[in-house]
Amino acid sequence: MKSDSAIAQEATMLPIAMIAKQLGLADEEWEPYGRYKAKIHVDVLEKMKNHPDGKLILVTAMSPTPAGEGKSTVTIGLAQALNKLSQRAIAAIREPSLGPNFGLKGGAAGGGYSQVLPMSDINLHFTGDFHAITTAHNLLAALIDNHLYQGNELHIDPDRVTWRRVLDINDRSLRQVAIGLGGRGNGVTREAGFDITVASEIMALLCLVENATELKDALARMLIGYTYENVPVTVSDLGVQGALAALLKDAIHPNLVQTIENTPAIIHGGPFGNIAHGCNSLIATQMALKLGEYVVTEAGFGADLGAEKFFDIKCRRGQLEPSAAVIVATVRALKYHGGIPKKDLTIEDLAAITRGFANLAHHARIVSEYHVPFVIALNRFPTDTDAELAHVEKLCAEHGFRVALTEVFAKGGAGGMELARAIMETIDHSEMSFAPIYDVEQSLLNKIEIICKKVYGARTVQFTDVAKRQLADCDRHGWSNLPICMAKTPYSFSDNPSLIGDVQEFTITIRDIRPSLGAEFLVCLTGDIMTMPGLPKHPHALKVDLDESGQVTGLF
Ligand code: ADP
Repeated sequence: MKSDSAIAQEATMLPIAMIAKQLGLADEEWEPYGRYKAKIHVDVLEKMKNHPDGKLILVTAMSPTPAGEGKSTVTIGLAQALNKLSQRAIAAIREPSLGPNFGLKGGAAGGGYSQVLPMSDINLHFTGDFHAITTAHNLLAALIDNHLYQGNELHIDPDRVTWRRVLDINDRSLRQVAIGLGGRGNGVTREAGFDITVASEIMALLCLVENATELKDALARMLIGYTYENVPVTVSDLGVQGALAALLKDAIHPNLVQTIENTPAIIHGGPFGNIAHGCNSLIATQMALKLGEYVVTEAGFGADLGAEKFFDIKCRRGQLEPSAAVIVATVRALKYHGGIPKKDLTIEDLAAITRGFANLAHHARIVSEYHVPFVIALNRFPTDTDAELAHVEKLCAEHGFRVALTEVFAKGGAGGMELARAIMETIDHSEMSFAPIYDVEQSLLNKIEIICKKVYGARTVQFTDVAKRQLADCDRHGWSNLPICMAKTPYSFSDNPSLIGDVQEFTITIRDIRPSLGAEFLVCLTGDIMTMPGLPKHPHALKVDLDESGQVTGLF
């Protein structure tokens, strides 16, 4: 099998003008960023508001192994397959974070014959959205420190500034830093720290607004810290939302590219899947729904985290009506959740698949809780044996799950025809109508318990003393009618990554509650969540190069 980059280099891309034309966009509605990338103007949404929406398909997954189970690959492959069936399909996915490209696994937006192009550009600076977000985030940090230095009229407690800095590089040394060293002229000395750009609240809110006015309002709402008297301070108190919005003037427009088979792909935004909601932008999804008959999108991690937040945060916010979900399963993840160690995942083991199936069945129950019909996509890896694949199909049949063997990595759209047909039929025959799992007006305690018990299957929910105090603070400040954004390990339904399979009878502990007032959700942390990754001993950066012809090599 050829490498992803060899496959990408052999593909024939169409000029982006042709893709824009295919979508029916008028010349003034999009702007080229070179030959193969473009931005679609956000105003297209307003112009098309009376057009009917296409059908929205969410690609989610069972609990993954650390290598990922192929959600992006299946998302892109399914869009290609639907196009092969003469449906106007669009993939709506997240922009990859630059940091991890040079870390453990290199860049990725799909793989094999289901990739988006131009892959190096998409993985590196793309159209500059992440740089704009990084700059806006750090401008706010600089303005806060300047406020402290210039007399601190707002009475902000320097020890309670919650706004950190961001960088789109994995750099563990910046997690905790001291700033303002070297004398009075260098500002107020205090402890600060850096997160990766995808963890910025600006990234999260950019992905949840519907236009530039909402963007500015959301920026104005962001909490930056507390006064000495414990009063929350927001961006609007500093009066700098306009400057932040100005830096995001281009980042708000969704990016248009194409897949390896020239299927349109809208790639926009990429918030973290733990301390944020992990989905591409609402603007991009809504726009794709206006421009396509089918929109295939994805949400981070498994259904417990990604689908839950997609349904309860994004769909609620944008009044989206998902028509169906695809749950990606792999033989290796089934064996992993059947108790097989990572190093032995390529050895045939039907009994382990039977044991691990409970994990997949739990994810299927989660999707059903939202009244969304689903199809299981069995994402075929080269190491899967025929007996294993047949066994998964048999288990699906026994559970009444529709399953489609999916070979989009090896064959592109042609390998996703069974999945595409299954999804179209499922949508046509479904009478379900989507509903979020909780009502935002319920108490915070209730909402958290509903997610932990109904979605994760926890028996009890515990709160640390800190979290109890924060719950009371949220009530006092009037923040309790916001949706919940859970930060939990993706590897287990519980808050302990080593409890694999379909863990039962567990207690989940809420340790910390952080208000994201701009994005309008409350982040509930259930464990140590890393917001600035580090680099491994042998980082992927060692393999990346620029050749004499100006081509980037080794990135993916
Ligand atoms: P996710 O979106 O779930 O994290 P990705 O689609 O990014 O997963 O896939 C994770 C990695 O696995 C990528 O490097 C991708 O190219 C690879 N991959 C996905 N599906 C297959 C497959 N069927 N065969 C081989 N490699 C695959």
